[in-house]
Amino acid sequence: MKMKKITNYSKFSIKTNRISFSMDNILIVGTVALDTIETPFGRVKRALGGSATYASFAASLFSKPALISIIGTDFPKEYIELMKKKGIGLNGLKTTGKTFHWDGFYEYDMNEAKTRKTELNSLEHFKVDVPQEYKSIKYIFLANIDPELQLETLRQVDKPDFAVLDTMNFWINSKRKHLMDVIKKVDVLLINDGEARQLFNTVNLVNAANQVLKLGPKAVIIKKGEHGALLFTKNKHFSAPGYPLENIKDPTGCGDSFGGAFIGYLAKTKDLSEKNFRRAIVYGSVVASHNAEDFGLNRLKNLKMSDIERRYREFQDIREF
Ligand code: AMP
Repeated sequence: MKMKKITNYSKFSIKTNRISFSMDNILIVGTVALDTIETPFGRVKRALGGSATYASFAASLFSKPALISIIGTDFPKEYIELMKKKGIGLNGLKTTGKTFHWDGFYEYDMNEAKTRKTELNSLEHFKVDVPQEYKSIKYIFLANIDPELQLETLRQVDKPDFAVLDTMNFWINSKRKHLMDVIKKVDVLLINDGEARQLFNTVNLVNAANQVLKLGPKAVIIKKGEHGALLFTKNKHFSAPGYPLENIKDPTGCGDSFGGAFIGYLAKTKDLSEKNFRRAIVYGSVVASHNAEDFGLNRLKNLKMSDIERRYREFQDIREF
């Protein structure tokens, strides 16, 4: 998984575009969940959610994601239909027992999700089994899930060009050692500010980022909720602003949709330079900010490229001085 700049194969675009467009080009392992969410603006019960779901909806705006995950027999058929409509590859989605269920809430500081209950259900005995046709996928997103499952996914794929990892406090607390092992194997770590402090035992985010870079990743992105995101590489750093959102209803899935859009844009442009990371981070922030405008996946399921491009231009304007 060496980070290499792959130049634009535009010469081949007419011949290969049709093939590559119809083929899954990002593999996402993570949770597909039923979420019960309460924010100061309302409540939803057993809505479609999960780290892999948000990430794949966001990635599907740019590329063609395929999932590795598990659901239960209680998972509504209409949600499967919605995923199919988004062109998400479902050959790696198993069904057994009961679907993973997360119950959480937010108070007026919407940057911090508080967990009431995490019911792992079928996830507890989930064994990763990457379908043959997905093993050659070059872009891998290890979305938030048990780090042992993230490691197993990496073991089963052929030779990815680029792997991105996300996680959360639940796994930092329960599987720290496995998590550190995965960090050593990926190109980019995505983590939010509180979790970076917790994992690296420091109050200082620059210090946390330097500790990550020493472990192996070429880049670390620290997500700061509504305050934007920071990118650290060996010699440079970049700060993306948050979008000043007035209408915010539910931030669930913002981190996952940031990650999905980030890798979706990189897989589409096939350019892994630091400069392109910056653009991908802004696309990630744009999609995440839209995601917070409504509950669950209600906003992402109708989001259009024209909405994304409009807000991307606003981001450019916010940064100019
Ligand atoms: P985010 O708000 O981007 O951090 O992620 C929210 C999503 O993460 C929700 O849809 C949950 O179903 C999912 N989730 C919550 N807890 C976990 C966990 N321990 N492992 C994986 N996914 C989780």
